[in-house]
Amino acid sequence: MTRIHVAPVLTMDPERPRAEALAVAGDRIVAVGTLEEARAAVPAGTPEQPHDGVILPGLIDAHLHMQRGGLKALAHLPAGAGLDEFIETMGRTFHDEDWPRRQPPTLDERVEGIDVAQRLFHQLGFTGIVDPATTIDEMRGYQEARRRGVLTMRTVAMPYLEPGSAATPDVDAVIAHLEGTGVSTGFGDDELRIGPIKVYADGEALKGQALLAQPWDESGYTGLQRISDEDFRRLVRFCAEHGWGVGTHAVGGAAIDLVARTYADVGPAVAERRFQIIHGYLEPTAETIATAARAGAIASLQPSIIWHNGAGLRAKLGDRAERANPVRSWLDAGAVVAFGSDGPFFAFDPRHLVWQAVTRRVRDEAEPLSLAEAITVEEALAAYTTGAAYAAFAEESRGMLRAGRLADWALWSDDPTAVTVDDLRTLRVLRTDVGGRTVHDEAAG
Ligand SMILES: [Zn+2]
Repeated sequence: MTRIHVAPVLTMDPERPRAEALAVAGDRIVAVGTLEEARAAVPAGTPEQPHDGVILPGLIDAHLHMQRGGLKALAHLPAGAGLDEFIETMGRTFHDEDWPRRQPPTLDERVEGIDVAQRLFHQLGFTGIVDPATTIDEMRGYQEARRRGVLTMRTVAMPYLEPGSAATPDVDAVIAHLEGTGVSTGFGDDELRIGPIKVYADGEALKGQALLAQPWDESGYTGLQRISDEDFRRLVRFCAEHGWGVGTHAVGGAAIDLVARTYADVGPAVAERRFQIIHGYLEPTAETIATAARAGAIASLQPSIIWHNGAGLRAKLGDRAERANPVRSWLDAGAVVAFGSDGPFFAFDPRHLVWQAVTRRVRDEAEPLSLAEAITVEEALAAYTTGAAYAAFAEESRGMLRAGRLADWALWSDDPTAVTVDDLRTLRVLRTDVGGRTVHDEAAG
């Protein structure tokens, strides 16, 4: 169906940031521009639909455990619960098991969970995600959801083969698994694609496991390294030579530095296969950030983690916590920054995360973290659109509203770049379309 949507458009296209109409035919955008330009691009008599609100590209969460969120919703959320209840419940059950039932989830339950979760995430303006640690069972779940025609959230699934587990006891076993199927990173399409593999370099910051260059305290302890330098180098080299990308969880400065230097050694595969540094938020040096950016690594960052952990990090590290989540530094070094949430565990509402990245406020603290690492609303939206699209192998098809691209867009109640920063969190997403198909419509209920 062909239609002209008439409303102010925030395109995220640097060549034409603003427009007044969006013409869509089938699953594609055919024109973005003035109303006259849109009319000229479609047959005479094409219906025109005026909207009260502002059109933005569909957002992409570059780090969302959507299927786990769906199962968690099935286990903890009453059927038919709305978005606010979902957000509240996921916050309240932060420490609970995702799936507290005796039997592991069936394939049907996985598909049902995906269906429940994606509907709720569409209500936040999301049209795509990167699932940052997809187990074999989760991969089956996504594949089956797609086969049944259920999957409306465009999904990039990052395979997670845990070294030390029964299936893959060591790095050699991980490599054998990766080699065994003949597919690699990028395989798939805009609906479901295989992303880089997920690897852990260190642990979690609030557990004191982030691997730091300076000790955590006077004991001299510097954190937890989860894979040896040599194993990591071997795995990264294998991946670079065999078409696999790598997304490495690296929280502390020493872990981030290991990842940056290892990536820098393997050349153009880093950019081609969208290697990521995931989290990258605690004490990376300027030199480390520059090395990673030059190597072509994506900085996959989550303002939500600092919102949750900021007060705890201040308690542990004092002033050393002030520069946590250095988004400004990553951007200024020229890295592609992709925003995500690490939901459903951490806050995943993009209105809240954009606000956090701008204000640097943290939960339970009156004072924000150092504003030297603050960014603008426009930069935060770019991280959720063009930046995250690049991480999703979709920089040619999604992330901005431009003729020829997929018609993934959301109608917001107001322009996020025009409201006061505190009003960001009161905006509503009125409608969301994926490939020209409406997947959320507030008016329709
Ligand atoms: Zn995660």
